[in-house]
Parts: sequence; structure tokens; C-alpha cells
Amino acid sequence: MKTFVPRGEIKKITPEMKALIAGSAVQITMGYPDVYFSHFRTIIVYPDKYYSRITGKYHNGEVNKLGVIVLSWKCFMEGFRIPRDGVNLVYHEMTHALRLKDIVSNNDYNFSDGTIVIEFENEAIIEMKKVKENHDGSSFFNDYSATNLHEFFAVAIESFIERPMEFRAYNKNLYSYLSKILNFDLLEAPYEGKSFT
Ligand SMILES: [Zn+2]
Repeated sequence: MKTFVPRGEIKKITPEMKALIAGSAVQITMGYPDVYFSHFRTIIVYPDKYYSRITGKYHNGEVNKLGVIVLSWKCFMEGFRIPRDGVNLVYHEMTHALRLKDIVSNNDYNFSDGTIVIEFENEAIIEMKKVKENHDGSSFFNDYSATNLHEFFAVAIESFIERPMEFRAYNKNLYSYLSKILNFDLLEAPYEGKSFT
């Protein structure tokens, strides 16, 4: 359903790469079996960080409204090499894609039930304040999460999947809002005890 475009030293997107990218997209949307990121038709894969002429910066990945998902393959693999640190590029970008899709058009589905999203965002604002006030690394979420609500959502999903136990112990309400928004919970049946690294 998608067009994969290799860039730089990556001359070909192998079936294995496609399977890994598709699999990670499913990890985000498994609560919504009919969601296929249909707005996103093109997936561009760079070997490493790439320069964006629009922002004038090097990026690890991005998602845009035209329906393009861009990934650095090195960063993609790095996200899975350390599976429990709450840092995973592709979960982050796929979450942006899911959210962006929901903003662009609600034709396929409406994953973000209004009330839950508002409750999540109210709690997120409190967490972002904590991140901004504590630069000593004591916060559960990284500094980048405090950039804005979109980034917080994407960063929070990285931990929701990679370290759900720690996340729930840290902030049960925030964790529970995310499980309602994504419609699955790795700590409950039928996922409980299964490994999703
Ligand atoms: Zn982001």
C-alpha cells in the first residue's frame, strides 16, 4: 500500500526493512485493526540523519501533511537496539502520523475521543511543567517532550510501548489515558506478559 523511497547510500529498501517499518506501525495501531495510515503513501528512508532545507537542521525523522513519512535507518535500528529506554524513533514518528492523520481528516476513524484527549492534555501540561523545571534528568520524560503537546504525545508513546510498567508506576492516570486513546494496554490481557520489544 506504500511507496518506499531509498535515499543516499541506501540503494534499495529490502523486504526486511519494509517488514520492520510496517511492524512498528502496527505496534502503534494494533488497537485499531482497520487503520492503515491511509493518508501516508510515501516512506522515505535515509541512511542516517539528513539535512532539511526547510528547517535548516539535521533530522532523524519527520512526518508531513502531504502524506510522507521520513526515517533515518540508523536511528530506526537504534530505537530497537536498546528496547527498554523509552527512546524509539519510529514509534515517535508513527505517533505523529496517527495524530496528523486525525487532524487532517477523520474519514477513516476517529481515534481521539474528545474527552480522553482533553484529560490527557491536562495531565500532559503538568508533566511538561515538571520537565521544564527539572533539568537534572529526574523527570520520567526527556527535555524534548516539553517542546509542545504534539511532541509530548509522541515521546509519551515511546515509553508507553517500551517501558509500560515504569510508566504506569510513575503516572497511572496519564498511562491510562494513553491506553484509552490507543485502545490497547500492554499490561492487560491479551497483551500482558507478551514481549513487544
Ligand atoms: Zn516529534
